[in-house]
Amino acid sequence: MKLYNTMSRRIEEFVPIKEGHASMYCCGPTVYNYAHIGNLRTYIFEDLLHRTLAAAGYEVRHVMNITDVGHLTGDGDDGEDKMEKSARQAGKSVWDIAAFYTDAFFSDEKDLNIIRPDIVCRATDHIQEMIDLIKKLEEGGHTYTAGGNVYFSIDSIDDYGKLARLDLDELRSGARIDVDSNKKNPKDFVLWFTNSKFKDQAMMWDSPWGRGYPGWHIECSAMSMKYLGDHFDIHCGGIDAIPVHHTNEIAQSEAACGHTWVNYWCHGEFLVNDKGKMSKSSGEFLTLSVLKDKGYDPLDYRYFCLSGHYRSQLKFSYEALDHARSARKAVVEKVAMLKAEATAAENPSEEAVRYMDAFDQAMESDLNAPQALSQLHMMLKSQLPASDKLAAISHMDRILGLKLDEIEPFKEERLGSDEDWALVDERAAAKKAKDFARADEIRQILLERGFVVKDTPKGAILEKKV
Ligand code: AMP
Ligand code: ZN
Repeated sequence: MKLYNTMSRRIEEFVPIKEGHASMYCCGPTVYNYAHIGNLRTYIFEDLLHRTLAAAGYEVRHVMNITDVGHLTGDGDDGEDKMEKSARQAGKSVWDIAAFYTDAFFSDEKDLNIIRPDIVCRATDHIQEMIDLIKKLEEGGHTYTAGGNVYFSIDSIDDYGKLARLDLDELRSGARIDVDSNKKNPKDFVLWFTNSKFKDQAMMWDSPWGRGYPGWHIECSAMSMKYLGDHFDIHCGGIDAIPVHHTNEIAQSEAACGHTWVNYWCHGEFLVNDKGKMSKSSGEFLTLSVLKDKGYDPLDYRYFCLSGHYRSQLKFSYEALDHARSARKAVVEKVAMLKAEATAAENPSEEAVRYMDAFDQAMESDLNAPQALSQLHMMLKSQLPASDKLAAISHMDRILGLKLDEIEPFKEERLGSDEDWALVDERAAAKKAKDFARADEIRQILLERGFVVKDTPKGAILEKKV
């Protein structure tokens, strides 16, 4: 299995810390609004990674957080609290808002057939773990308090910014004026706020530094360490997390544990539209519900995401989504036909296995889903017998997750009611007994019911009278 590692900027062989196991942490949703389809692209990429690791035989432990603590739009105490703002607009409590959008998120994930992570952890349930981690950083001399807030000092470590390859000297000389004058270095970040500019801050907890709430990055370090230990295999997110969020997660985690925290950093590129990146804060975003209301199946969107490589930008348009819908529909129809046609399953032939191997190889080469999809199409077009094709489809769908195994075979349309067919059987018995008068009588009754009986080598059939 090969994965592109943002830390090395290279595709590397995946070597797990513990043989046969793969531990992954994915930054989860901020639940002050619906997830937009760009966010969902990132979760589909992470699902592909989970499924590919599992299909390759790894025991996967997948952890995802839910950011239900209010967060400021900026890293200093300068933005608006998104959760508070959303609650105020809806006339609800912040807790209600978080619960509502968390449910909405899981409903989207289910619709998209995304496997639920093994552990889903809420930030608000882990405040103590965050406080403990900040205490550890404080003991290690990595923090300072100013203006009521606890800051992480990036000058207390020597490799700050290594993930994003930030040039700190350039940043410092770039006359970047940070609105937060409490910071010793503009790149320092808050670990704990006690000094909120919001009068009615609803989410507050007691801490050694006073009543307040955690900074933006500490939850991911605290929760990943709790559930995966202080050294684990893979950390994922969207590329926007590289320069600040993941950079700060690394700084505080490695300052606390004193060694490498994560081995592979995997980032998904953006879903874009005509105006650029789809984003939550711009207010202009498409949700899965909008697509459903327009008549798309959520799996059309999943298929659309599979058609692009996760490290390339994917441009959303309804034309492109229509294309994905037609392609998925063609696959679904083909699978239904194969199911109606297939005889008893046998072990797949060597040729079928070759297609499966090529599919696996594509996915294990840094999740090349477009290439894997093309193996599916080539296999469907091949001369393989139906049962072979169905075996290959099952194998591939463990990763594609398009629910191809759940497709019902086409039912052969049978004209006539059970009563009509009882007459057909009676006629056959009458003919066998050479009672042709009764047989003709039944033919007449069926004719009156609108059917013509036809004798074929496979037995009698009914056709509509014209
Ligand atoms: P948020 O709920 O805003 O924290 O975002 C959840 C995830 O979606 C993060 O991993 C982001 O990096 C990712 N994300 C945000 N915008 C996009 C986008 N336009 N395309 C793909 N992923 C995105
Ligand atoms: Zn995170």
